[in-house]
Amino acid sequence: MKNFKRYLVTSALPYANGPIHIGHLAGVYIPSDIYTRYLRMKGVDVISVCGSDEHGVPITLKARREGVTPQEIVDRYHVLIKKAFEDFGIAFDIYSRTSNKVHYETASGFFKTLYDKGEFIEKTSDQYYDMEAGCFLADRYIMGTCPHCGNENAYGDQCEKCGTSLSPNELINPHSTVSGSKPVLRETLHWYLPLDKYEPWLRKWILEDHKEWKTNVYGQCKSWLDQGLQPRAVSRDLDWGIPVPVEGAEGKVLYVWFDAPIGYISATKELTPEWEKYWKDSDTKLIHFIGKDNIVFHCIIFPAILKAEGSYILPENVPANEFLNLENDKISTSRNWAVWLHEYLEDFPGKQDVLRYSLCANAPETKDNDFTWKDFQARNNNELVAILGNFVNRTLVLTNNYYEGKVPEPGKTDSNDDFVLKEITRIRQNVEVSIETFRFREALKEAMNLARLGNKYLADAEPWKVIKTDPERVKTILNIALQITANLTIIFEPFLPFSMKKLRGWINFNELKWSEAGKTDLLTPGHLINKPGLLFDKIEDEEINRQIEKLLATKKANETAEAKITPGKEPITYDDFIKIDIRTATILEAEKIPKTTKLLKLKIDTGLDIRTIVSGIAEYYDPETIIGRQISIVANLEPRKIKGIESKGMILMAEDSDGKLVMVAPSEKVNNGSMIK
Ligand SMILES: [Zn+2]
Repeated sequence: MKNFKRYLVTSALPYANGPIHIGHLAGVYIPSDIYTRYLRMKGVDVISVCGSDEHGVPITLKARREGVTPQEIVDRYHVLIKKAFEDFGIAFDIYSRTSNKVHYETASGFFKTLYDKGEFIEKTSDQYYDMEAGCFLADRYIMGTCPHCGNENAYGDQCEKCGTSLSPNELINPHSTVSGSKPVLRETLHWYLPLDKYEPWLRKWILEDHKEWKTNVYGQCKSWLDQGLQPRAVSRDLDWGIPVPVEGAEGKVLYVWFDAPIGYISATKELTPEWEKYWKDSDTKLIHFIGKDNIVFHCIIFPAILKAEGSYILPENVPANEFLNLENDKISTSRNWAVWLHEYLEDFPGKQDVLRYSLCANAPETKDNDFTWKDFQARNNNELVAILGNFVNRTLVLTNNYYEGKVPEPGKTDSNDDFVLKEITRIRQNVEVSIETFRFREALKEAMNLARLGNKYLADAEPWKVIKTDPERVKTILNIALQITANLTIIFEPFLPFSMKKLRGWINFNELKWSEAGKTDLLTPGHLINKPGLLFDKIEDEEINRQIEKLLATKKANETAEAKITPGKEPITYDDFIKIDIRTATILEAEKIPKTTKLLKLKIDTGLDIRTIVSGIAEYYDPETIIGRQISIVANLEPRKIKGIESKGMILMAEDSDGKLVMVAPSEKVNNGSMIK
């Protein structure tokens, strides 16, 4: 095996259109954090880079839906995501973002270099164009019926129901999500990376030279390569992103999958002027931590881009994880089926390590796995509290009780003592090998075996009994228990950094060097320790039930949202329709009608006249908040007397499946009395 001089660790750039959930942590960031912390403790030269991925269609879609700019969306989530990482101790050296100037220059320069080298193919193709909105429609802007499963809400790039990858022209009845209209095909020019050209090289580089990659990663690469690679577009018709730096490319930006991985390079540039030694020196070991949805981009496309450029190193390993499910269901941002990190910390303040522990212990390393609150509770109560916490607590409390907090001088050891002391080294080695081969579950299990060993040692040696008959012997027992405790603070540090910091404080021990682990004289006799607190505390059923109820409420809300909408009415003629005089109007006054719960009396300026309308919206709108609002009304409805008041017309409201009423209003201010047709 090659000896590398330094390490560059990258973690998948989270997409800045929503907050971070446990699936992200388990899949990418906890493994990368454990690995990085371990390397730092070994004293090797390592940097860990990450940042927000801020381009691409989903962000523009979300911005459009919320009526804000894409920049506002990414600003909001960049801050939220960055904070969540900090809160959970994910220790990047830099957390950057792809809307930064450095990144624009880097990605743009990368494209230009490949363009000048003639690495791209220019090709015109027919793509869907929205005549009403006047723009080309990227994959996610087109929806239609999936030709495979009949799902009517399939996207232009994928059907989320059956999981099939699609191209927009496979969709049946395509429609634009921008305007709702039926798009037309129109010619457009794009640049393609000829992946087929790199296929023979990729086959050798991955399938022959990297047989050590995780089976799930290797297998997915092999299946892509066996299907045969096709040229892949690296540009898109879009107004949000990094402009294609070529003359005549107005309105085109770099495809987000071209620009995002270059974000790792930009972040490194931002971090250190010596960035080139991390990216261009073959003595650097480059490791990409990602989730399985990113395998093709990091193992095939990005390496092909780097290879085409020519001066960069390639990843040495790409230890991608599979997906984490939540209570037997796929984690989903749009269905709110997730445990969000910021919410977790509100419900379980100070318990970062409990989540880190249970997500690592249950990580989807080779296959999809399930997070359940019951498992979370069991990991905490049966392992962190009952094994690790219990051992540490007994050791520190006894040391305080018997020796006023001073580490006792050990006497002669017996064969069991010697066995236990030797085990420390063996466990350390196992943890090491597992971390270095990206088997973090195994590594954590071994680390817990050290606490288990300590627990068993105390239970067998029974110092609380022996103290009455052989106090000298107890000194040896507690000295050994204290050495195990000191070793725990080193070996658990990559996994449970918050708790180990606490524990180091209790034993006045600040050693973080990995090479010290395994030593049996870390705490010298006479060394003073402090009074301990509780390292972990029990999580009661109530707290877990509250979380489960929260998820059940989400499930119910989703079902309501998906509930069948009222069937369509009988068709009418246009002549029928134009009989209705629908117009814009403004609310001038509003007051509750006494002795009713639902009715408001509104004075309305219709442009034609000032009139009174009685409307049943009092449960959804406070009178004072709607004065001045523009609305839509049916102006020619026959007047009706309601509670003695003559109501002339009707306000248009949208009613959702649970009966909630929402005003229907023009999207920008227009003159009162404007016809709606
Ligand atoms: Zn489908």
